[in-house]
Amino acid sequence: MKFYNTMNRKIEEFIPQDPTNVKIYCCGPTVYDFAHLGNLRTFIFYDILRRSLVYAGFKVKQVMNITDVDDKMIKNSKKRGMALKEYAAMYTKYLFDDLRDLNISEFESYPRATESVDEMKTIIYGLLKKGYAYKSDDGIYYNVSKFEDYGKLSHASFKSNVARIKNDEYDKESAADFALWKDWTKEDENVFWEDGIQRGRPGWHIECSAMSIKHLGETLDIHSGGIDLIFPHHENEIAQSEAYTGKPFVRYWLHPGHLFVNEKKMSKSLHNFYTLRDLEKLGFDPLSFRLMTLDVHYRAVLDLHLDTLKKYEKTLEDIDITMKSFDKLERGDYSSDKDSLKSAKIALNGFKDAVLEDLNLPLAMTQLFRLIDIINKKVAEGKINQSDYEELRNAVFEMDSVLGIIKSYNVPQEIITLANERKELRDKKAWMEADKKRTIINDAGFKIIDLANSNYIIIKNRKYGR
Ligand code: AMP
Ligand code: ZN
Repeated sequence: MKFYNTMNRKIEEFIPQDPTNVKIYCCGPTVYDFAHLGNLRTFIFYDILRRSLVYAGFKVKQVMNITDVDDKMIKNSKKRGMALKEYAAMYTKYLFDDLRDLNISEFESYPRATESVDEMKTIIYGLLKKGYAYKSDDGIYYNVSKFEDYGKLSHASFKSNVARIKNDEYDKESAADFALWKDWTKEDENVFWEDGIQRGRPGWHIECSAMSIKHLGETLDIHSGGIDLIFPHHENEIAQSEAYTGKPFVRYWLHPGHLFVNEKKMSKSLHNFYTLRDLEKLGFDPLSFRLMTLDVHYRAVLDLHLDTLKKYEKTLEDIDITMKSFDKLERGDYSSDKDSLKSAKIALNGFKDAVLEDLNLPLAMTQLFRLIDIINKKVAEGKINQSDYEELRNAVFEMDSVLGIIKSYNVPQEIITLANERKELRDKKAWMEADKKRTIINDAGFKIIDLANSNYIIIKNRKYGR
């Protein structure tokens, strides 16, 4: 398996420390609001990374942190009259709803920053002792000029112009000493820690060093985060962790690209963002967004267009119809279709090669569509050998173990009952009565498609389907 490693700027063979315990740390969200689709593109990537490693035979331990204390959260929770904890819990729940709706796998853990403040303090004291950190009049800072390798990830050379920055979100050409610990001010009200340290709260960068060491150990196999995090966040994580432990922090750095809207990065500050809820209100299935992100290489920019999303909505419907029709196909002891099985094997091999070559999902998906074509051909033939059916079906689900786009929409029992009643009415040629049942089914958000041999399937009624 190969990955593009940001540290060395090239595609490299992936060799973990222990293939039965691949340690992955992913920078998660600050839960101050709903996640926007840009954040979610990155989280879908984390899932694809996980599924692909598992597909390649590795066992993984994956951690995504949740930042539940920062300037914006303190401000917003105050505005809403909520305690910080309560406020964070609310948006964390919404986040997990989004992850579930996007079919993102569950990771091994989701540590909250506020639960690891003791570990952050330990590192800060370690850095003070080693001379990498210093106290100032408003907090404790990291002295970037002390860390010789500063800039090795972002490939920048920072020799001069070292300023001091308290804010977490600076975006500068020059290196700056950054806050490890911010002293309490009255705006922080009751948000502070003071046991064994001056009253205050942690900076943002320190939490990832602390939580990754706590949950995964001193050297990670993979660290990932959106491309905007390379500098300063990941550069600062390296400086903190390596100065503290004296060991290499990360072996492979993976940075997925951004989601854009009209050629600008989607972000809260530009007010050009959509949430998953916005898409659902417009009638889109969350999985159509997932599918859209897979069709562009993870390191490339993806521009969001709702018209393109409609295309993916239709693709989802096509796949659903194919697979449900395939399941209804007459099966038996017919002769095996060796040609189709051979083509399916070629598609599966092509799929695997594409996934293993730096997660080339767009290429991998072309193989899924080849397989779907083979299956459609069998559906048109009207019958299939039982073991061919199983082999082809398994091939699709093997691919979907990476893609995660095929979902059998749970059709409620009352809809199934209505559909059965409709069939009985049609058998009796009571067309008008049968149509009434169809209307009720449509109104409930489902759709019946009649197949040959008076079979039928029920699919979701998509606003942007056919
Ligand atoms: P934040 O909550 O802003 O710290 O972001 C959480 C994750 O989303 C980070 O890994 C960011 O790099 C990523 N992210 C932010 N904006 C975008 C975007 N427009 N496209 C893709 N990823 C993004
Ligand atoms: Zn981080």
